[in-house]
Amino acid sequence: MASPKQLLVAGGGIGGLAAALAGARQGWQVQVFERAPAFGEAGAGVQLGPNVVRLLQAWGLGAALQAAAAFPARLRVRDAASGQPLATLDLAAMPARYGAPYATIHRADLLALLQAAVAPLADVALALDRRVQRFADDGRQVRLHTVHGDGRMAEPVAGDALVGADGLWSGVRAQLLDDGPPRLTGHLAYRALLPQAALPAALRSTEVTAWLGPRLHLVGYPVRGGEALNVVAFVHGRPPGGASGATPDALADWDHATNAADLQAGMAGCCAPLQDLVRAVPAWRLWVLADRPPLRAPTQQARGRVALLGDAAHPMRPYLAQGAGMAIEDAEALGRALRQADAAGTAVPALLARYALERWQRNARVQARALRNGRIFHATGPLRWGRNLSLRLLGERLLDMPWLYGPPAR
Ligand SMILES: Cc1cc2nc3c(=O)[nH]c(=O)nc-3n(C[C@H](O)[C@H](O)[C@H](O)COP(=O)(O)OP(=O)(O)OC[C@H]3O[C@@H](n4cnc5c(N)ncnc54)[C@H](O)[C@@H]3O)c2cc1C
Repeated sequence: MASPKQLLVAGGGIGGLAAALAGARQGWQVQVFERAPAFGEAGAGVQLGPNVVRLLQAWGLGAALQAAAAFPARLRVRDAASGQPLATLDLAAMPARYGAPYATIHRADLLALLQAAVAPLADVALALDRRVQRFADDGRQVRLHTVHGDGRMAEPVAGDALVGADGLWSGVRAQLLDDGPPRLTGHLAYRALLPQAALPAALRSTEVTAWLGPRLHLVGYPVRGGEALNVVAFVHGRPPGGASGATPDALADWDHATNAADLQAGMAGCCAPLQDLVRAVPAWRLWVLADRPPLRAPTQQARGRVALLGDAAHPMRPYLAQGAGMAIEDAEALGRALRQADAAGTAVPALLARYALERWQRNARVQARALRNGRIFHATGPLRWGRNLSLRLLGERLLDMPWLYGPPAR
């Protein structure tokens, strides 16, 4: 009997754990290398469209998702300056329309749900405190060099395929494509999580609300079955210290209190309920948003025995709320490609190329749409006026996206 194929995964975030699960479901043995000493995600939420929820359900995670997430009935879009309603999207119609609901979930809960799915699998080994340093693909196999948290080099490991799921600042991508760092967008995200019980009734919400204003927007939605409200404000601004201030390590040193004052000042022109919401937040966490231009070819997503997945492949602005969603879609497509592996593993590069071919255009489309949404959400002058008029007139027709939420055409 042929021995199982070996999949190496760099990064144990949402994409890496989803890839591990997808690979193991196809009979591969998987090793995940995560540089952090524990699996964890920052205290913030993610929205998951029905395209993503459908996949999680197919992986048997529907009940766990049901227990951890919230399922808002409506998306409401408002003008941030006037507070006027502009449009709504009936999210409660998603199961009938697309076969799965629209979910909002705490990132830590999504990661925990994926971790709980892979942890009992005998074919998945999770190595924490192991930073991936470099790989060597000799055509027959790929060898991965990793370092322990205390700086000791670990024994290199060999596999049939390597997935770089190591996020925005991916080292696997840097070695594979050598295409420079991600670009700063000039936008900052302030995130907060508020217990709804502690909020005045007027600020609590069971819906997704997007407030669109000149040069900023704010999104709020419930997580944890509605117990908490996730709030994220996107504004224009530069990281202190320039580009070097954008790295996760540099961000840890930021003065968050000063930044919260900056945010409140930046929102001075917004309507009273929005200012009340921003003032109700005791502490914000700050992200400097960086992205890359949309993918231009499948060879940017896989070469030889190495494939990129999630933010390592296609980091995008979070203005379509689909970055984690595309990582999960990538993982599912990767799993289907790996299923075709031959006993000797010689077909693996062709299978990874097939994975890339299936994914790159959809990822590029989502990256491009997210970019465009940012321009529309933050519009000023006549463009803002046109945006508001279009939303009032066309509403749901603009907000619903069958090409994104519907089942893929294969
Ligand atoms: C403000 C904001 C809001 C967002 N909202 C949404 C949303 O509503 N819906 C949505 O779908 N997406 C959203 N996203 C996008 C989403 O967060 C990302 O697309 C998603 O987290 C990417 O997952 P990933 O696993 O590819 O990368 P990451 O989550 O970055 O995971 C990468 C992992 O690799 C590890 N790693 C890095 N380097 C190494 C190394 N050398 N060795 C070992 N491990 C390493 C890291 O520690 C990390 O655990 C949002 C993003 C932002 C910034």
